[in-house]
Amino acid sequence: TAHLLEVKDLRTYFLTDAGIVKAVDGISFTVDEGETLALVGESGCGKSVTNLSIMRLVPSPPGKIVGGEVLFEGKDILKLSEGELRGIRGNKISMIFQDPMTSLNPFLRISTQMTETILLHNKDITKKAALQKSIEMLQLVGIPSPEKRIRNYPHQFSGGMRQRVMIAMALSCNAQLLIADEPTTALDVTIQAQILELIKSLSTKLRTAVILITHDLGVVAGMCDVVCVMYAGRIVEKAMTDDLYANPAHPYTEGLINSVPRMDLRGKDERLFSIEGQPPNVIDLPPCCPFHPRCHKAMDVCKHVYPPAVTVGTGHETACWLYNDEQTVADALAKVAE
Ligand code: SF4
Ligand code: MG
Repeated sequence: TAHLLEVKDLRTYFLTDAGIVKAVDGISFTVDEGETLALVGESGCGKSVTNLSIMRLVPSPPGKIVGGEVLFEGKDILKLSEGELRGIRGNKISMIFQDPMTSLNPFLRISTQMTETILLHNKDITKKAALQKSIEMLQLVGIPSPEKRIRNYPHQFSGGMRQRVMIAMALSCNAQLLIADEPTTALDVTIQAQILELIKSLSTKLRTAVILITHDLGVVAGMCDVVCVMYAGRIVEKAMTDDLYANPAHPYTEGLINSVPRMDLRGKDERLFSIEGQPPNVIDLPPCCPFHPRCHKAMDVCKHVYPPAVTVGTGHETACWLYNDEQTVADALAKVAE
């Protein structure tokens, strides 16, 4: 059966004066109807560029999608005309970002912004019906007295409430896929949990697929079905969320799990584990496992050849030499020696 979204070997490079930044370098994943998938990694790992590539919003120049496919309902988004693209963007695929203020117009009432969005994507609906739909959406995302609050301007809402408005707006056109890029990073912990809970319950109720982009593996548990861990422009591990927590394969994933701030330790023990070293500079990266300078299990082969992905469990893959068989390692090393 066809997937709602299928990203195949996507490559997005930035051609800078300093060299080629391979921000996204050959990533593949699928998302099905109603499924929630997380893209997790430190800043600069390529997760936001992946999002922008899916929507074809990569700033160009210097950015360029140099390869791969982004199949949405079987059609390659990378090959659509601008007109066809408009029919998908904000309509079938919606996005929300960290700071809703950047996407909301401060000078327009929420009612105006929401009804305009709905009318833009739906020619057959009256203004009155669009307003009614907007109120219903605000109700659905838990805004109290929505028929009153819809008359307000963005600054009259708290950060958490604004993010709820954004979610309502994003889903008001019955989007099939919601891409949420660090949607709760700017919010305090309690509100974060409420917003994630809201996204999860809407996804279940409306069968909306969700891609959650986050640097915090801690917010993924209980929220996402599948996790893709990204490092230096590639997916280094992909697994069902519970499986990833129980059996992390890649040393980077292990580090991420150990660096998740433990709620029970907050305020008691501030010495939280964190991964030593910095993410690599991805400009003109030589062939190697880019994690090797930070990896306590690095071997000779890791310094010279990128590890091929191997299956380590059901739906569980990792790109790490530790899980490749001896012959594959020997062959790779022999090639380097040539
Ligand atoms: Fe560590 Fe080597 Fe695996 Fe990279 S390939 S994560 S350096 S063991
Ligand atoms: Mg980002």
